[in-house]
Amino acid sequence: MKLSNQTAIVTGASRGIGKAIALALAGEGCNIAGVARSEASANAIAGEVTALGVRYTGYGVDIASASAVNACVDEVQRQFGGIHILVNNAGITRDTLLLRMSDEDWDAVLQTNLKGAFNWTRAVARIMMKARQGRIINISSVIGLHGNAGQANYAAAKAGLIGLTKSVAKELASRNINCNAICPGFIQTDMTGALADELKQRLQEQIPLKRLGEPGDVAALALFLSSAEAGYLTGQVLTVDGGLFI
Ligand code: NAP
Repeated sequence: MKLSNQTAIVTGASRGIGKAIALALAGEGCNIAGVARSEASANAIAGEVTALGVRYTGYGVDIASASAVNACVDEVQRQFGGIHILVNNAGITRDTLLLRMSDEDWDAVLQTNLKGAFNWTRAVARIMMKARQGRIINISSVIGLHGNAGQANYAAAKAGLIGLTKSVAKELASRNINCNAICPGFIQTDMTGALADELKQRLQEQIPLKRLGEPGDVAALALFLSSAEAGYLTGQVLTVDGGLFI
């Protein structure tokens, strides 16, 4: 067990990539504090996680709210007695072309995808700094590296997350806290589920490994970044996209 007696906060744990990450970490003995928009949603994975023999508590938190995030971090610290890993995974899309993009579309995506990660990072940093130990993993996107028509808000937030990752890595390295970003390509989840089958087929043909990604493909990397073996890796941006952007 690579992560026994550790605790991870995983945001967006209710489904998709966040769920796969929570299960991968739990499979190595890590206790999980799972966050989603509501407690009921966060607890959707409680049974599967606890079946792996670790503790799980689900928290309903709007990650865009700093006060809600601070209160949750205090509660996790009280309940679990430490926070060793933070996975900033929760995210949303509000895709539309630039001229049609409303202030609300822009603000909602920036508040959740970028400010949300800042809120959690600031809140756990004081605990990790005191413990002189910590791993922070930010789930960015290939869209943050390359941009995409119809996703100006999402691309800006995901690119911002890369800047946040590198700055936090530099700022907290002296306290033995590593911070890295993962850029998934096209992963099959609810977020991409609405895309037309024809588009998915075309994408699959463009991907050198000739398949769409699974949440577990991202979770495997998040598990590695959480492990002792990745102790000398920080400030890095790692792409998991089947070779799409080679
Ligand atoms: P998903 O299936 O749509 O799940 C999103 C998760 O985020 C849910 O758990 C949701 O909670 C949570 N969430 C959203 N807004 C929240 C808020 N304000 N407060 C708390 N929780 C919130 O998404 P996914 O495809 O697994 O994506 C996970 C991450 O990977 C996202 O950051 C996404 O941008 C990134 N990503 C995905 C892909 C892809 O192809 N799927 C590619 C690159 C990057 P509820 O269940 O309560 O709604």
